[in-house]
Amino acid sequence: MKTILISIPAFNEAENIKPLYHTLKDALINLSSNYEFEYLFINDGSTDKTVQEVSYLMDHYDDVTLLNLSRNYGKEIAMAAGFDYSTHDAVITIDADLQHPPNLIPKMISLWETGYDDIYAKRKERKGESFLKKATSKLFYKVLERISATKVTPDAGDYRLLDRKVVAALMSMRESERYTKGLYNWVGFKKVAIEFDAEPRLHGKSKWSFNALLKLAVEGITSYTTAPLKLSMYFGFFVSFSAFVYMIYVLIKTLIYGSDTSGFPTIIIIVLFLGGCQLISIGIIGEYLSSVFIESKRRPLYFKEDIKTSKKK
Ligand code: UDP
Ligand code: MG
Repeated sequence: MKTILISIPAFNEAENIKPLYHTLKDALINLSSNYEFEYLFINDGSTDKTVQEVSYLMDHYDDVTLLNLSRNYGKEIAMAAGFDYSTHDAVITIDADLQHPPNLIPKMISLWETGYDDIYAKRKERKGESFLKKATSKLFYKVLERISATKVTPDAGDYRLLDRKVVAALMSMRESERYTKGLYNWVGFKKVAIEFDAEPRLHGKSKWSFNALLKLAVEGITSYTTAPLKLSMYFGFFVSFSAFVYMIYVLIKTLIYGSDTSGFPTIIIIVLFLGGCQLISIGIIGEYLSSVFIESKRRPLYFKEDIKTSKKK
């Protein structure tokens, strides 16, 4: 029998744990004779009753595992912990808030059986999300697509079924600034999309603040492409070239008409403009340098507090 891990990163999702588990079970009931499912809850440093809720499931069902991380690391790392844990033939990552409809899973599995390695769910519509969030996310993917060599599929999230070999490939990459949406595409393998309507969260609020999203966007760009470095270099060329042309113009003008003390505004404008450009470029370089700094420490991605399983073996 093939084994499938349902990997669920959860940060303060207490009210969603039981409804999610039961919806998943209902969706997979017809498949349970052919596949062995294990439900892994990765508790990403929750401060609410998430642990108690999962413990309740563990007492009553024999296919639940709880992995406690030592603190809140963020969803990207929590997912990595799920991949590390798995020894299964396939892993399905799904959000704990029921925004990802479990009834897609049978279709994912049947596509997997036809030979696909990465079956990802693609949002048709984002219900219950603010206009600002939709617009900024759209803009981000546009920009990223323009500047990077490998494509990132817009509106495709982390809800996907990954074959063992894709999981192994992902886990061989130990970078700590993980932009998993970029990694899926970087590793390749046979991909196929299925579309769905994203539901609003069942309980609680989204953990993504504007700042967290901005950080993910900057990490997405700097850990995934070096295009901003090139861009700042091209811009530097452009500014230097303009300055050179202007210099010749000033030189000739001075030779013909002599010099006068006017021209202070032009000088101050140029000085400030160039200063700004230099600061931007240094900032971009600094962003990459800080990634090098962080990665060069080679710290483990996370620490496990403990791991408990209700599986009868
Ligand atoms: N999550 C997590 N650690 C965090 C933030 C979120 O494990 O620090 C989990 C969260 O419990 C949920 C999933 O990641 O299962 C998606 O989070 P959320 O619903 O807040 O994101 P959104 O759907 O708004 O993108
Ligand atoms: Mg959500």
